[in-house]
Amino acid sequence: MEKKRLGIFGGTFDPPHVGHLILAAEARDQLDLDCTIWVLTPDPPHKRGQDISSLEHRRAMVEMAIEDDGAFSLSHVDIDRPGPHYAVDTIKILKQQYPDQALIYLMGGDSLQDLPQWYHVQEFLSFLDGIGVMRRPGDDIDLSELFEQLPQLREKLNFVTAPLLEISAQQVRRRAGENRAYRYYVLPKIYEYIRKNQIYQS
Ligand code: ATP
Repeated sequence: MEKKRLGIFGGTFDPPHVGHLILAAEARDQLDLDCTIWVLTPDPPHKRGQDISSLEHRRAMVEMAIEDDGAFSLSHVDIDRPGPHYAVDTIKILKQQYPDQALIYLMGGDSLQDLPQWYHVQEFLSFLDGIGVMRRPGDDIDLSELFEQLPQLREKLNFVTAPLLEISAQQVRRRAGENRAYRYYVLPKIYEYIRKNQIYQS
């Protein structure tokens, strides 16, 4: 029997926006994923020193973002352990949790660009069956250099085709803080949640 294919989508999700949802949905279709777990990272090492919204708010928003899609669920793998949360440790735990499934890690082009700098990246890659990447405006990907630095990538990398979306969580936070339009960058219920809780008000 063919292994089930599990998408793993890690992020800070401050807040989850339509770019995240489109990436996850396109990856499911194009990479034939059975389910995707959203791994909310409470304490991302590469964002230390940045002001990140509370885990409670981010978790509530991710739950809202995924609740209407039966193929998406929230993973507690990082929520339940102390940080900093390196992806290599996360994957090691997930490999134990899902020993019989193929693990496909999803990310944007900016993350792929930074991948050689990830903590213990070779080990991280060795646990994965695939990496699904959706390009992002402004990313600068030199595949031959990446393959030279990370030879394992060559057989694991798949691009997910989608329109380039110039939407980031940072942009949503900034727009919300400046009272500029961002309504359609996020799901309506998340828009309401941000406003009600004044999450990004300076
Ligand atoms: P911030 O603006 O705060 O840095 P972000 O929008 O990049 O946040 P994250 O939660 O850090 O969101 O991202 C989780 C993953 O989603 C990353 O791999 C990132 O590259 C990817 N991603 C986010 N937005 C997009 C987008 N518009 N297109 C493609 N990938 C995206």
